[in-house]
Amino acid sequence: MTETTSTASAGSRRPLVVRTPDELRRATATAGRTALVPTMGALHEGHRSLMRIARERADTVVVSVFVNPLQFGPGEDFERYPRDLDADTEVCAQESVDIVFAPATETMYPAEQMVTVDAGAMGGRLEGASRPGHFTGVLTVVAKLFHLVRPDLAVFGEKDAQQIALVRRMVADLDIPVEIVGAPILRDPDGLASSSRNVYLSDPERVSARALSRALAAGREAAPGGAAAVRTAALAVLEGAAQADPPVELDYLALVDPATFTEAPDGHRGAAVLAVAARVGATRLIDNTSITL
Ligand code: AMP
Repeated sequence: MTETTSTASAGSRRPLVVRTPDELRRATATAGRTALVPTMGALHEGHRSLMRIARERADTVVVSVFVNPLQFGPGEDFERYPRDLDADTEVCAQESVDIVFAPATETMYPAEQMVTVDAGAMGGRLEGASRPGHFTGVLTVVAKLFHLVRPDLAVFGEKDAQQIALVRRMVADLDIPVEIVGAPILRDPDGLASSSRNVYLSDPERVSARALSRALAAGREAAPGGAAAVRTAALAVLEGAAQADPPVELDYLALVDPATFTEAPDGHRGAAVLAVAARVGATRLIDNTSITL
């Protein structure tokens, strides 16, 4: 892609911002090898790391910015989710992204009673149990983005471990010809996983929230003792954090098989994911780490 706009800022080439499938199709007509980075905007260092991986692997990098109503449950933060397309476009410019696809909700979901992608049994576990319908919403929008952008590869963060596992399942089960590339979790200097939702945290809430990454680190250190030792070590940190002010209210801590997200039995050997979800104040946070047992 060589397209630029007249607003190009010094040192960074502005990406082309497209809003509709037709504009997108025209913009990608001669794109060559294409990488897609799906996001909900409010772009941070974690998103940047995905863009860099995409940039290294493709001729054209497309970043989608779409706060997907289908993956939010009633009472969740869809309305207050941070939105700033100008700031996001600037981040994309700095990361040499070619195209920002930022469709309107009505463009993505014109039909009232639409067909969706069923996330199956894995989609009902952990995050899916806490947020019913969440992964149907995620997989439906990801499938649409794959069909609209037709990327050769798509980059997803391991921050959302169950999401990337389900996307891998979907492309395998539905024969979608796209390579899924995983990106390591990017953390802020205090250990908290970078997230668009971190802006919701007050200073004291942020201090309490550090317990999530500390619990995962404690679990990882206990790996030589086996699955039960990992769970016990991580829970000990979270039990302490439940007494903090403000408290960390645990939703789940689970040690699971990375391919299915079913609980790893006590004798489990090999790869596992230690995943945590908790609420600090009004903010729900998730984090995870890979562990070899
Ligand atoms: P979101 O905008 O939160 O839907 O995230 C868009 C993509 O960025 C997803 O693939 C996330 O897993 C990924 N992502 C978000 N935060 C991080 C992070 N801290 N490290 C790595 N990837 C991330």
